[in-house]
Formats: sequence, structure tokens, C-alpha cells
Amino acid sequence: MDIAKNKTEIMKKVAVACSKTDRDVSEIQLLAVTKTRSIEEIENALKHGISLIGENKVQEAEAKIPLIKGKYEQFHFIGHLQSNKAKKLLKLKPDMIHSIDKLSTLRKLNELAGKEAALVNVLIQVNTSGEESKFGIEPQEAKTFIRSAAEFENIKIQGLMTIGLFTDDEKLIRNCFRILKLLFADLKSLEQANCEMKYLSMGMSNDYEIAVEEGANILRIGTALFGPRNY
Ligand SMILES: *Cc1c(COP(=O)(O)O)cnc(C)c1O
Repeated sequence: MDIAKNKTEIMKKVAVACSKTDRDVSEIQLLAVTKTRSIEEIENALKHGISLIGENKVQEAEAKIPLIKGKYEQFHFIGHLQSNKAKKLLKLKPDMIHSIDKLSTLRKLNELAGKEAALVNVLIQVNTSGEESKFGIEPQEAKTFIRSAAEFENIKIQGLMTIGLFTDDEKLIRNCFRILKLLFADLKSLEQANCEMKYLSMGMSNDYEIAVEEGANILRIGTALFGPRNY
């Protein structure tokens, strides 16, 4: 897999999507989703200008992250997080957790971070596709959810994350991203000390161009960078 070439290809398409909507490419962060990839593949990606890496399983992240020797700017956790794995995850010092959809998990993270006087940056995962199998809170629950987290002093809510509908129908995918963007805009007016709507994490290999057009500023991309995954 030629990561440099793939990355260039992705950034070209991002630039086109940006120009369509009058956005600047520099607003957009590319998070390389490294789940299932070996340390060697990750090291190689880091050599080719990847600086943000994302894993979706605590156990896999524990096995890999400490072994990475190359420099990266940030490690993000993007998978579903169970409270009982929160402690192990925090040991890896994630710069961002994208996938919060339970107040109990957030409470646990707050408690653990409090002991270390640390701050944990999180995004709230929203289910914009209406699929029951997907994680995430309902869009209409978001405000109440965030308000209920106001007391968590060691948590910083920095935005929202969603997974678009898995379909070939572009309109349906776009609709998911629009729901998130509207919600994001609405929540910006919330005045809450531990909440600042900065990041919209949406767009994966099959839909990142649409996501950029709809306002994403963190793209989570695995396959388009590294090729198909072997589980
Ligand atoms: C695997 C994964 C991605 C990346 O998926 P690709 O289609 O390989 O780009 C993005 N976000 C989440 C939450 C994932 O689990």
C-alpha cells in the first residue's frame, strides 16, 4: 500500500470538496484509523505525514500504542467505550475520545481523570442515521445530555461525532451529516464551562467528501489510506 499516494489522493478530494463550499483545507484534520494495522504500517504512515491516529478497541490500543516509536501528535479513541475499560484507556492518554454516548461512562472518566488532575477531551456520538444497531444518542437528546454533564469538571466536551448511514444513496448520507451540523450549530449557543463546540467528526473512507461539504473538520479514514482491512 502506498500511503503517501493514498494520502495525496484523499487530500486532493478534500480540497475539491472544500473549494465547492468555500472552506479552507487547513481547517480539516485527517485522523488515520489504524485499527487492525500493524505497528510497522503505523510507523510507515507516520513517516508519510500522518500525525493523528485513531483506534477503536481498548485492548488493541493497549497492545500497540506504547510500542509506536515514531512521533505523532495525537492519539484518538473512536470505538464504543465501556465504563470498565475507561481506566485502561486513560492510561494511554488519549487526546480525544470520539464516542461518548452514555452519561455513566462520562461520569467514570471524570472520576478517573479527577484523581490525576487531568482533563479528558471528548466528543458526543450522535446517531443520525436512525439505525438501531448504531451507537450514539438521539439528536434530540443531545442538549439534555450535555447539560447533565455540566458538573464533570475533568471533562471537556469539544464537539460531536457521527457515523453516516452505510448506503450508496448520497442523499441519505448527506442528511446524516446535515443533522449533525445543525445540531452542532445549535449547541454552540450553550453556555457551559466544560463544553465548547469545536469539532465535527464525520466522514469515513466511503463518504468523507460529502462530510467535508457538510462541515466536517475531523475525518476518520482507514481503508482509503491503508487499503482493505484483514480481520
Ligand atoms: C473503522 C472506523 C472508521 C474508518 O473506516 P474506513 O471505512 O476504513 O475509513 C471510522 N470511524 C470509526 C468509528 C471506525 O470504527
